[in-house]
Amino acid sequence: MKTFLIEKPEAFSFGETKMPELNAGEVLLKIERVGLCGGDLTMFRGLNPMVTYPRIPGHEIAATIAEVSAGVPAHLQPGLLVTVVPYTTCGKCPSCRAKRPNACQFNQTLGIQRDGALTEFVAVPWQKILWSPKLTAPDYALVEPLSVGFHAVERGRVTAADTVAVFGAGMIGLGAIAGAALRKKARVIAIDLDDQKLALAKKAGAAEVINSKTENLHERLQQLTNGEGPSVVIEAVGAAETFVAAVNEVCFTGRVVYIGYAKKPVAYETKFFVMKELDVLGSRNALPEDFENVIRVLESGLYPVAETVTRLVPFAQAGAALQDWSANPNTTTKIHVNLH
Ligand SMILES: [Zn+2]
Ligand SMILES: [Zn+2]
Repeated sequence: MKTFLIEKPEAFSFGETKMPELNAGEVLLKIERVGLCGGDLTMFRGLNPMVTYPRIPGHEIAATIAEVSAGVPAHLQPGLLVTVVPYTTCGKCPSCRAKRPNACQFNQTLGIQRDGALTEFVAVPWQKILWSPKLTAPDYALVEPLSVGFHAVERGRVTAADTVAVFGAGMIGLGAIAGAALRKKARVIAIDLDDQKLALAKKAGAAEVINSKTENLHERLQQLTNGEGPSVVIEAVGAAETFVAAVNEVCFTGRVVYIGYAKKPVAYETKFFVMKELDVLGSRNALPEDFENVIRVLESGLYPVAETVTRLVPFAQAGAALQDWSANPNTTTKIHVNLH
C-alpha cells in the first residue's frame, strides 16, 4: 500500500509498505482524510525532539472501517466512518494511576513516536475508535486538534460565569475558544496578531477579539473586564511574551492554562503567582471524554469546519503541502490530506 514517509528533516518520499496484520480486538481502517498539524510541521523541520526518523506522520484521522477482527463489538461494522484517539497509555505511571492518561509519561502518539495514518490502511484497537452518525470526514479529521483546546478548557474549570482570554487563534486556540464559548457558554476574548485568524475566532464563538499587534493588549483587556482582567487565560501560542502576559493579565485568583511550549526559558514577575493566588496549569493532549465533547459540538453544526480547513490537498501533494507550510507558517490554520 502507498505510504508517505518523512525520511529525515526536510526530506520526504512515497513508498510501498505492507498491509497491516489484524490482531484480535483490532479494527482495520481505510484512511479517508488526515489533518497535518503543527507537530507534523516541527517533525518535518527536524525540531521535534520526540521524533525518530524515518516516520509516517498523521494522527488527525477520518477513516472507514474496512474489516473487524474477533472480539470487536457489533456496533463497529465495516463501512462506518470513524475517528481515532491516537494516544497510548501505559496504565502504570503516575498520570495513568491518577486517571489522567492524556498525560501518560510513556504516551506514544500515532504519527509522532510511532508510525501514523498517512498511508492507505492502519490497524488500531477497537477501544480507540469513536463514531457519530452525524459527522463527515472533514469533521472527524478536526476532532483531535479541537480536543486539545477542549481539554485546556476543562483544566481551567471554565464555566458560563467566566471571561476567558485565549492567546493565539491558530488551530489549538480555536479549540480552546470553541470549548469555552460553544460548549461552556463562557464569554471569550480571542487574541492574535492576524485579523483573518481573529475573524475565524469570532465564527468559533469569541465574543470579542484583540489584535495585539495594532491594539494595546493590557488596556483592551482591562476595558473589556471592568478593570479586573479575565478570570481564565489560556495560552496557545508558545512564546515567552504570551507566557508572561497570561500571568500578568489574569484577574486575582484567576486560572492560567498553558498548552504551548515556550522555546526558551521564560522570566516571570513571580509576585503575581502569590499576590493573585493563581492556579497555573499545564494541559497536554486530551482525554477520550474531550474527544466526545468535541463530537457533540461538531454534531450541533455550530463550529465553522469549512472555514478552519485552509487547504485540502490530494495524497500525492502531502509533502509539497508541508514544504509550502514550512515556507509560509502563518497563513495556514489547517491542511487536510485527502487520501482518495
Ligand atoms: Zn495534531
Ligand atoms: Zn502512563
